[in-house]
Amino acid sequence: MLIIKKMFVAVMAMLLIGSANAAEKKSHSSEADMAQQACLQIAKRLASVYTRDCKYNNGLLATGEFSVEGRPILEKTYPPRPPKKAKARVMLIGGIHADELSSISIVFKWMRILDKYHSGLFHWKVIPLLNPDGLLRDGDATRVNSNGVDLNRNFPAPDWEANALDNYWVRRTRRNPRRYPGPSALSEPESLWLAKEIERFRPDVIVAVHAPYGVVDFDGPPKGPSKLGKLHLNLLGTYPGSLGNYAGLQKNIPVVTIELKHSGIMPRSKEIKRIWIDMVRWVKNNIPKETSPVYKGLQAFMQDMEKTDLSRKN
Ligand SMILES: [Zn+2]
Repeated sequence: MLIIKKMFVAVMAMLLIGSANAAEKKSHSSEADMAQQACLQIAKRLASVYTRDCKYNNGLLATGEFSVEGRPILEKTYPPRPPKKAKARVMLIGGIHADELSSISIVFKWMRILDKYHSGLFHWKVIPLLNPDGLLRDGDATRVNSNGVDLNRNFPAPDWEANALDNYWVRRTRRNPRRYPGPSALSEPESLWLAKEIERFRPDVIVAVHAPYGVVDFDGPPKGPSKLGKLHLNLLGTYPGSLGNYAGLQKNIPVVTIELKHSGIMPRSKEIKRIWIDMVRWVKNNIPKETSPVYKGLQAFMQDMEKTDLSRKN
Protein backbone atom coordinates (compact mmCIF):
# COMPACT_ATOMS: atom_id res chain seq x y z
CA MET A 1 0.00 0.00 0.00
CA LEU A 2 2.79 2.35 0.97
CA ILE A 3 4.56 1.63 -2.30
CA ILE A 4 1.44 2.44 -4.30
CA LYS A 5 1.01 5.67 -2.35
CA LYS A 6 4.64 6.63 -2.98
CA MET A 7 4.25 5.87 -6.68
CA PHE A 8 1.09 7.94 -6.79
CA VAL A 9 2.89 10.90 -5.20
CA ALA A 10 5.79 10.50 -7.62
CA VAL A 11 3.47 10.38 -10.64
CA MET A 12 1.55 13.42 -9.42
CA ALA A 13 4.81 15.30 -8.88
CA MET A 14 5.94 14.44 -12.40
CA LEU A 15 2.63 15.56 -13.83
CA LEU A 16 2.81 18.82 -11.92
CA ILE A 17 6.38 19.51 -13.02
CA GLY A 18 5.40 18.62 -16.56
CA SER A 19 2.49 21.01 -16.58
CA ALA A 20 4.58 23.80 -15.00
CA ASN A 21 7.18 23.34 -17.74
CA ALA A 22 4.48 23.34 -20.38
CA ALA A 23 3.03 26.56 -18.95
CA GLU A 24 6.46 28.17 -18.91
CA LYS A 25 7.15 27.07 -22.47
CA LYS A 26 3.76 28.32 -23.55
CA SER A 27 4.35 31.75 -22.03
CA HIS A 28 7.81 31.93 -23.63
CA SER A 29 6.45 30.98 -27.00
CA SER A 30 3.57 33.43 -26.75
CA GLU A 31 6.06 36.20 -25.87
CA ALA A 32 8.18 35.24 -28.86
CA ASP A 33 5.03 35.10 -31.01
CA MET A 34 3.99 38.52 -29.78
CA ALA A 35 7.43 39.96 -30.48
CA GLN A 36 7.46 38.45 -33.96
CA GLN A 37 4.00 39.74 -34.82
CA ALA A 38 4.87 43.24 -33.63
CA CYS A 39 8.16 43.15 -35.53
CA LEU A 40 6.41 42.06 -38.74
CA GLN A 41 4.04 44.99 -38.41
CA ILE A 42 7.03 47.32 -38.12
CA ALA A 43 8.61 45.68 -41.18
CA LYS A 44 5.39 46.32 -43.11
CA ARG A 45 5.61 50.03 -42.34
CA LEU A 46 9.34 50.57 -42.83
CA ALA A 47 11.09 49.66 -46.06
CA SER A 48 14.46 49.32 -44.30
CA VAL A 49 13.20 46.77 -41.78
CA TYR A 50 12.98 43.31 -43.33
CA THR A 51 10.87 40.34 -42.43
CA ARG A 52 14.09 38.47 -41.73
CA ASP A 53 14.75 40.97 -38.91
CA CYS A 54 11.69 39.40 -37.32
CA LYS A 55 12.85 35.79 -37.38
CA TYR A 56 11.10 33.79 -34.67
CA ASN A 57 13.08 33.72 -31.42
CA ASN A 58 15.92 35.90 -32.71
CA GLY A 59 16.24 37.59 -29.34
CA LEU A 60 13.74 40.35 -29.96
CA LEU A 61 11.35 40.12 -27.03
CA ALA A 62 8.14 41.64 -25.85
CA THR A 63 9.10 43.43 -22.64
CA GLY A 64 5.77 42.67 -21.01
CA GLU A 65 4.96 46.35 -21.15
CA PHE A 66 2.46 47.81 -23.57
CA SER A 67 1.66 51.08 -25.25
CA VAL A 68 -1.57 52.98 -24.62
CA GLU A 69 -3.28 50.93 -27.34
CA GLY A 70 -1.85 47.66 -26.05
CA ARG A 71 1.00 47.16 -28.49
CA PRO A 72 4.06 45.46 -26.98
CA ILE A 73 7.23 47.47 -26.48
CA LEU A 74 10.07 45.39 -27.89
CA GLU A 75 13.66 45.04 -26.72
CA LYS A 76 16.69 43.01 -27.57
CA THR A 77 19.49 42.43 -25.12
CA TYR A 78 23.06 41.58 -26.02
CA PRO A 79 24.45 40.32 -22.72
CA PRO A 80 28.02 40.14 -21.46
CA ARG A 81 30.05 37.14 -22.53
CA PRO A 82 31.79 35.65 -19.49
CA PRO A 83 34.57 35.42 -18.54
CA LYS A 84 34.91 38.78 -20.24
CA LYS A 85 33.29 41.51 -18.19
CA ALA A 86 31.19 44.05 -20.04
CA LYS A 87 32.87 47.43 -19.84
CA ALA A 88 29.68 49.43 -20.03
CA ARG A 89 25.95 49.01 -20.11
CA VAL A 90 24.54 50.77 -23.11
CA MET A 91 20.88 51.51 -23.73
CA LEU A 92 20.02 52.29 -27.35
CA ILE A 93 16.59 53.73 -28.13
CA GLY A 94 14.83 54.49 -31.41
CA GLY A 95 11.35 55.73 -32.27
CA ILE A 96 10.65 57.88 -29.22
CA HIS A 97 9.08 60.10 -31.89
CA ALA A 98 7.50 57.59 -34.22
CA ASP A 99 7.31 59.89 -37.26
CA GLU A 100 11.12 60.01 -37.26
CA LEU A 101 11.12 56.79 -39.27
CA SER A 102 14.87 56.69 -39.88
CA SER A 103 15.44 56.62 -36.11
CA ILE A 104 13.69 53.24 -35.97
CA SER A 105 15.14 51.76 -39.17
CA ILE A 106 18.72 52.60 -38.26
CA VAL A 107 18.39 50.84 -34.90
CA PHE A 108 17.27 47.68 -36.73
CA LYS A 109 20.33 47.99 -38.97
CA TRP A 110 22.61 48.39 -35.98
CA MET A 111 21.00 45.32 -34.38
CA ARG A 112 22.08 43.40 -37.50
CA ILE A 113 25.64 44.52 -36.78
CA LEU A 114 25.33 43.43 -33.16
CA ASP A 115 23.79 40.08 -34.19
CA LYS A 116 26.97 39.41 -36.10
CA TYR A 117 29.68 41.15 -34.12
CA HIS A 118 28.56 41.38 -30.50
CA SER A 119 31.73 40.62 -28.60
CA GLY A 120 30.63 41.15 -25.02
CA LEU A 121 32.59 44.37 -24.63
CA PHE A 122 29.35 46.16 -23.80
CA HIS A 123 26.10 44.93 -22.38
CA TRP A 124 23.46 46.30 -24.76
CA LYS A 125 19.80 46.86 -24.24
CA VAL A 126 18.20 47.91 -27.50
CA ILE A 127 14.69 49.35 -27.70
CA PRO A 128 14.03 49.94 -31.40
CA LEU A 129 10.62 51.59 -31.05
CA LEU A 130 9.49 53.18 -27.80
CA ASN A 131 6.34 54.62 -29.36
CA PRO A 132 4.72 51.73 -31.28
CA ASP A 133 1.26 53.35 -31.46
CA GLY A 134 2.73 56.39 -33.21
CA LEU A 135 4.11 54.18 -35.99
CA LEU A 136 1.56 51.40 -36.28
CA ARG A 137 -1.65 53.42 -36.09
CA ASP A 138 -3.83 53.73 -39.17
CA GLY A 139 -2.67 56.63 -41.31
CA ASP A 140 0.58 58.56 -41.10
CA ALA A 141 3.00 58.01 -38.26
CA THR A 142 2.92 60.57 -35.48
CA ARG A 143 5.52 62.13 -33.23
CA VAL A 144 3.25 61.77 -30.19
CA ASN A 145 1.79 58.63 -28.62
CA SER A 146 -1.87 57.77 -28.94
CA ASN A 147 -2.81 60.04 -26.03
CA GLY A 148 -1.26 62.87 -28.03
CA VAL A 149 1.71 63.14 -25.66
CA ASP A 150 5.27 63.92 -26.75
CA LEU A 151 7.08 61.18 -24.80
CA ASN A 152 10.29 63.20 -24.92
CA ARG A 153 8.67 65.89 -22.77
CA ASN A 154 6.97 63.48 -20.34
CA PHE A 155 9.97 62.58 -18.16
CA PRO A 156 10.23 64.02 -14.65
CA ALA A 157 11.98 67.34 -14.23
CA PRO A 158 12.28 69.77 -11.34
CA ASP A 159 9.06 71.76 -11.34
CA TRP A 160 7.78 69.73 -14.26
CA GLU A 161 4.37 71.34 -14.16
CA ALA A 162 5.65 74.90 -14.10
CA ASN A 163 8.42 74.28 -16.62
CA ALA A 164 7.36 71.52 -19.02
CA LEU A 165 3.69 72.39 -19.07
CA ASP A 166 3.40 76.14 -18.48
CA ASN A 167 6.71 77.74 -19.40
CA TYR A 168 7.62 75.45 -22.24
CA TRP A 169 4.41 74.14 -23.77
CA VAL A 170 1.93 76.93 -23.10
CA ARG A 171 4.24 79.93 -23.41
CA ARG A 172 7.04 78.82 -25.67
CA THR A 173 5.33 76.47 -28.09
CA ARG A 174 1.92 78.16 -27.80
CA ARG A 175 0.30 74.81 -27.10
CA ASN A 176 1.81 73.08 -30.10
CA PRO A 177 0.03 69.69 -30.12
CA ARG A 178 3.18 67.95 -31.37
CA ARG A 179 4.97 68.97 -28.19
CA TYR A 180 2.31 68.39 -25.55
CA PRO A 181 4.15 67.06 -22.49
CA GLY A 182 1.11 65.28 -21.02
CA PRO A 183 -1.03 65.93 -17.95
CA SER A 184 1.77 64.99 -15.54
CA ALA A 185 5.30 63.57 -15.63
CA LEU A 186 5.38 59.87 -16.54
CA SER A 187 1.65 59.87 -17.25
CA GLU A 188 2.26 57.59 -20.25
CA PRO A 189 2.93 53.84 -20.11
CA GLU A 190 5.77 54.11 -22.64
CA SER A 191 7.75 56.77 -20.74
CA LEU A 192 6.93 55.22 -17.37
CA TRP A 193 8.28 51.87 -18.55
CA LEU A 194 11.46 53.47 -19.88
CA ALA A 195 12.06 55.36 -16.62
CA LYS A 196 11.65 52.10 -14.67
CA GLU A 197 13.88 50.27 -17.13
CA ILE A 198 16.60 52.88 -16.62
CA GLU A 199 16.42 52.13 -12.88
CA ARG A 200 16.58 48.37 -13.47
CA PHE A 201 19.25 48.29 -16.16
CA ARG A 202 21.36 51.15 -14.78
CA PRO A 203 22.91 52.11 -18.12
CA ASP A 204 26.32 53.78 -18.15
CA VAL A 205 25.26 55.60 -21.27
CA ILE A 206 22.05 56.09 -23.21
CA VAL A 207 22.03 56.58 -26.96
CA ALA A 208 18.74 57.97 -28.28
CA VAL A 209 18.11 58.35 -32.00
CA HIS A 210 16.02 61.13 -33.51
CA ALA A 211 15.75 63.14 -36.73
CA PRO A 212 15.93 65.54 -38.64
CA TYR A 213 18.37 68.08 -37.18
CA GLY A 214 21.50 66.41 -38.53
CA VAL A 215 23.63 66.85 -35.39
CA VAL A 216 24.83 65.06 -32.29
CA ASP A 217 23.44 66.43 -29.05
CA PHE A 218 24.68 65.50 -25.60
CA ASP A 219 23.54 65.79 -22.01
CA GLY A 220 25.36 64.86 -18.84
CA PRO A 221 28.96 64.07 -18.03
CA PRO A 222 31.66 63.87 -19.47
CA LYS A 223 31.97 65.63 -22.84
CA GLY A 224 29.96 64.49 -25.81
CA PRO A 225 31.43 62.99 -29.00
CA SER A 226 32.59 65.81 -31.28
CA LYS A 227 31.54 63.88 -34.37
CA LEU A 228 29.67 60.69 -35.23
CA GLY A 229 29.91 59.97 -38.94
CA LYS A 230 29.14 63.27 -40.61
CA LEU A 231 27.10 64.51 -37.67
CA HIS A 232 28.82 67.13 -35.53
CA LEU A 233 28.26 67.93 -31.90
CA ASN A 234 25.88 70.82 -31.56
CA LEU A 235 24.27 71.27 -28.19
CA LEU A 236 20.64 72.04 -28.82
CA GLY A 237 19.83 72.85 -25.20
CA THR A 238 17.59 70.73 -23.04
CA TYR A 239 13.88 70.87 -22.67
CA PRO A 240 12.12 70.21 -19.39
CA GLY A 241 10.67 66.72 -19.54
CA SER A 242 13.09 65.43 -22.17
CA LEU A 243 15.04 62.21 -21.74
CA GLY A 244 18.31 64.17 -21.99
CA ASN A 245 17.24 66.47 -19.20
CA TYR A 246 15.99 63.61 -17.02
CA ALA A 247 18.71 61.00 -17.48
CA GLY A 248 21.60 63.28 -18.47
CA LEU A 249 21.30 66.23 -16.16
CA GLN A 250 19.38 64.81 -13.21
CA LYS A 251 20.66 61.24 -13.08
CA ASN A 252 24.13 61.93 -14.43
CA ILE A 253 23.84 59.26 -17.09
CA PRO A 254 25.45 60.50 -20.30
CA VAL A 255 22.82 60.76 -23.04
CA VAL A 256 24.03 60.88 -26.64
CA THR A 257 21.26 62.07 -28.92
CA ILE A 258 21.87 61.24 -32.54
CA GLU A 259 19.79 63.51 -34.74
CA LEU A 260 19.84 62.03 -38.23
CA LYS A 261 19.50 64.41 -41.17
CA HIS A 262 16.22 63.13 -42.52
CA SER A 263 13.21 61.47 -40.97
CA GLY A 264 12.09 59.69 -44.11
CA ILE A 265 15.38 59.00 -45.86
CA MET A 266 18.04 56.73 -44.40
CA PRO A 267 21.69 57.79 -44.37
CA ARG A 268 23.80 55.95 -46.93
CA SER A 269 25.01 52.52 -45.98
CA LYS A 270 28.58 53.72 -45.35
CA GLU A 271 27.39 56.54 -43.12
CA ILE A 272 25.20 54.15 -41.10
CA LYS A 273 28.30 52.07 -40.37
CA ARG A 274 30.48 55.11 -39.74
CA ILE A 275 28.10 56.56 -37.16
CA TRP A 276 28.04 53.15 -35.46
CA ILE A 277 31.82 52.75 -35.38
CA ASP A 278 32.34 56.29 -34.11
CA MET A 279 29.69 55.80 -31.45
CA VAL A 280 31.12 52.49 -30.22
CA ARG A 281 34.63 54.00 -30.15
CA TRP A 282 33.45 57.00 -28.23
CA VAL A 283 31.71 54.83 -25.64
CA LYS A 284 34.75 52.59 -25.41
CA ASN A 285 37.12 55.51 -24.85
CA ASN A 286 34.92 57.73 -22.73
CA ILE A 287 32.42 55.80 -20.72
CA PRO A 288 34.36 53.22 -18.73
CA LYS A 289 37.39 54.99 -17.38
CA GLU A 290 39.46 51.80 -17.24
CA THR A 291 41.30 50.78 -20.35
CA SER A 292 39.25 48.49 -22.48
CA PRO A 293 40.51 45.24 -23.94
CA VAL A 294 40.92 44.90 -27.66
CA TYR A 295 37.49 45.11 -29.19
CA LYS A 296 37.70 42.11 -31.43
CA GLY A 297 34.15 42.44 -32.64
CA LEU A 298 34.74 46.01 -33.74
CA GLN A 299 37.96 45.08 -35.53
CA ALA A 300 36.31 42.21 -37.38
CA PHE A 301 33.47 44.51 -38.23
CA MET A 302 35.77 47.14 -39.69
CA GLN A 303 37.53 44.53 -41.80
CA ASP A 304 34.20 43.34 -43.10
CA MET A 305 32.84 46.81 -43.51
CA GLU A 306 33.41 47.13 -47.21
CA LYS A 307 32.16 43.63 -47.95
CA THR A 308 28.72 43.79 -46.44
CA ASP A 309 25.89 45.89 -47.65
CA LEU A 310 23.63 46.65 -44.75
CA SER A 311 21.40 49.00 -46.56
CA ARG A 312 19.91 47.51 -49.68
CA LYS A 313 16.61 49.23 -49.37
CA ASN A 314 17.16 52.82 -48.41
ZN1 LIG B 1 12.67 63.38 -32.09
